[in-house]
Amino acid sequence: MSPDWSAAEAETVARLRDLIRFDTTNPPGNELPAALYLQAALENEGIATTLLEPDANRAALIGRIPGTGAARPVILLAHMDVVGVERASWSCDPFAGEIRDGYIYGRGAIDDKGMLAANLMTMLLLQRELKRTGAPLSRDIVFVATSDEEAGGEWGMGWLIEHHADLLDAEFALNEGGRTRIIEGGQTYLAVQAAEKISHVVTITAHGSAGHAAIPLEDNAIFRLARALEQLSRYSEPVLLTSITRQFFGRLAEVWPNPREQSAMAALASADPGIVENGAAVLSRTAVFNAVLRNGISPAIVEGGSRYNVIPASAGAVLNVRTLPGQSIDEVVDRLRAVVTEPHVTLEITQRGAEAPASDPDSAMFAAIAATARELNPRIAVVPYLSTGVTDSARLRRIGVQAYGILPFPMEQSDEERMHGHDERVPVESLHFGTRLIYGTIERIAR
Ligand SMILES: [Zn+2]
Repeated sequence: MSPDWSAAEAETVARLRDLIRFDTTNPPGNELPAALYLQAALENEGIATTLLEPDANRAALIGRIPGTGAARPVILLAHMDVVGVERASWSCDPFAGEIRDGYIYGRGAIDDKGMLAANLMTMLLLQRELKRTGAPLSRDIVFVATSDEEAGGEWGMGWLIEHHADLLDAEFALNEGGRTRIIEGGQTYLAVQAAEKISHVVTITAHGSAGHAAIPLEDNAIFRLARALEQLSRYSEPVLLTSITRQFFGRLAEVWPNPREQSAMAALASADPGIVENGAAVLSRTAVFNAVLRNGISPAIVEGGSRYNVIPASAGAVLNVRTLPGQSIDEVVDRLRAVVTEPHVTLEITQRGAEAPASDPDSAMFAAIAATARELNPRIAVVPYLSTGVTDSARLRRIGVQAYGILPFPMEQSDEERMHGHDERVPVESLHFGTRLIYGTIERIAR
């Protein structure tokens, strides 16, 4: 039996608007009132909750629908905090939940309050079905709402794992981090994030003689740094296909509208390294594809010098290096040292990201997501995805939970780009699709 969706849809819209109206801009976050709202909604339905307060006015809320224990629990995760807004650039109040032209507007509409509302509705609808039918689920469904994701998660998932890891014991988790993209020609693909790149900080420093700027010096540190960076700018790490990126491009090829890119995607599945290389070369011209095909190096800060008439003894730059799973940052930096032949230049790893295992793209959870998506849209392509961005899922994967990232709302790229931008919005129809996708997935995996 499926829930009364027309009533559920009105409730989902109302819940999302309520959640947007809590200003959880992080910093400072102030997620506690939103957590209390979620707690009341769950408790009113008879779902037991645990409210934790990691810091003043911060919160983590856990709700649990117990199953028979035949299978291990599944987590439904979303964060309550949002990034800041530049109010002058919005056409409406970002914390009002305005509905206009079939969209709900507001900070968090797609990151991550839309999913938070859909997760909440999934809990409420499952509990209502449970009451009606009396047929228990095979596993616990654990609703988790966290704080502080947008500022690194120290007071969110980081804190929760450090202090209450027992509450997060689960086989699977569903979180943000993928996308449901409507591409040219109306085709849609659902990218399910199963792994993430790992973010490191590397500092490059050039050394030279200090002196009065009136006397130009050949070993000026700033010139040295510039030459070293120029050498790095011409260098790319080698293409490296993981099983996830291979499947990502292979399945995306089935729906991709651009014929040249489409055959390049298909070429990546070839056993012939020459054909793979040619395909990767074509795809590398698109920055977002290039970023998943190899380790990435982005200079982000340059620093050096203090006065116009003083030659500094050193000048440096900060590089954000993002490695593919399983890649050693030490080996990447060794390769960069070989690329930079400019003398008196050093490279140092100043911040190491933590490795996290990938979630299995052939698991029952992935299959449940894919089957549910196809039930809602028979033409959808469901692809495993390695994200270049970082989410709470990496922390869960490190404690043994197979986490999958979705953005369950079908959207064109232009709407997706409003995430963290101005006039963030979710199409009302997509909100309903996303809620059904999450409900259907959880119902399926917990049968
Ligand atoms: Zn988010």
